[in-house]
Amino acid sequence: MKKQILNTTVSIIAIVWLLSTTYANYTLTNNDINNISLIENKIEWLVNNGKITYSQLETKLDKLSSKKNISEKNQAILNEISLRISEKMTPSKRNFTYKPKWGYAPTIAGTIFIEPSSTMELKVGQKIKNLTDKSYEFGITLQKLTPRMYWVQNGFYNSVFYVWDNGVLVMDTLAWGGGEKVIAAVKSVTDLPITTLIYSHQHEDHIGDVQFFLDEAEKRWVNLEIVSTDKTKEAMIHNGSTLTLATKILDFKNDSFKFEDETISVEWLNNAAHVSDSATWLFENEKVLHIPDYVNPNQVPYLGFGGSHTYNWFRDDLTQIQKHNFDYFSGGHGNIGSKADLSFMLEYTANLELALAQWIEASYNENFFIAKYNNHQASAKAERDFIISTSMDILRDTYGEMYGFEASAPYQLEMLIRAGE
Ligand SMILES: [Zn+2]
Repeated sequence: MKKQILNTTVSIIAIVWLLSTTYANYTLTNNDINNISLIENKIEWLVNNGKITYSQLETKLDKLSSKKNISEKNQAILNEISLRISEKMTPSKRNFTYKPKWGYAPTIAGTIFIEPSSTMELKVGQKIKNLTDKSYEFGITLQKLTPRMYWVQNGFYNSVFYVWDNGVLVMDTLAWGGGEKVIAAVKSVTDLPITTLIYSHQHEDHIGDVQFFLDEAEKRWVNLEIVSTDKTKEAMIHNGSTLTLATKILDFKNDSFKFEDETISVEWLNNAAHVSDSATWLFENEKVLHIPDYVNPNQVPYLGFGGSHTYNWFRDDLTQIQKHNFDYFSGGHGNIGSKADLSFMLEYTANLELALAQWIEASYNENFFIAKYNNHQASAKAERDFIISTSMDILRDTYGEMYGFEASAPYQLEMLIRAGE
């Protein structure tokens, strides 16, 4: 069907040719312009009905233009059609700021969204309602997960804390004033002091507000214990961090410690695609797993998979994270997650691969290496743009209404192409 329509389009262009004769320095007549407008309408119809894309048409026209013995008139007509097509071509049907009228679609079909509660435990798989709107308010969103654990968000960052009979353990302080909000959130559920902090990894956008916790501990005569892996401590020293270093150091590769009756275990990621000290932190009894910047539940991945060095390592890390024994997933950003969010991510990346493979193959049949692009790097860029924009068109059917798709998926496709180069 697609081929048939394509042939129809090409034959319309061919008819225009046959009717024309050779003129030197040809200037389009009113009649030519009328004919071109008719062709343009036909093309628009074909594109709007998904029969062909502008970029496919552009390539076909380039092929026709590059034929020998083309008359000046035909060349002028083709140039005019090409110009009109290029004006219509956009890298994406939607802008990167696209927001669906009725709100973003959930990444996991059938998700139940609830109003946050600091007293009612969240069922595994449930998520917080309208969280992206709450993010912009920069207040506190607090949700009870298990009898002992809470999830807290400020702005676009979040973390978890654990309340025991004698004190509270906080995972990541957050930053830019978020730490003060986390302390307030803890105070809203218990009078107990914060006695232990964990730095999940070296990035200061997650741990930058430690000073608020140190000040609070001093006020309450508490000797605050800060826990990190050896790898995180080394990285902080290497980065010249001015933050207080951890006082209790765990082995990055595999270690654990006790906070009262709870065991918190840490395990390195074999490839650590995000940053060298990325590790999973598991609250074993409560079955809560924390690792920032890999999976943002209820969003597509952030830009280049949360700053991952390579796509291949990122995929390996996801598989490793998924193997842990947890019910609740805490990703540092996005909503409250569960195992289903890891499955979503693995399926999402698999679909990115499929869409790309299809259009990389299609690009072999298109001729990007032509004089029009003036050098081989420009040709390569035209080819890459074609592959990414056509892959986006395919993926948009499934992921187009999800948070972050228009903004971030093109980066991810680019990373996937690089992974295969
Ligand atoms: Zn990070």
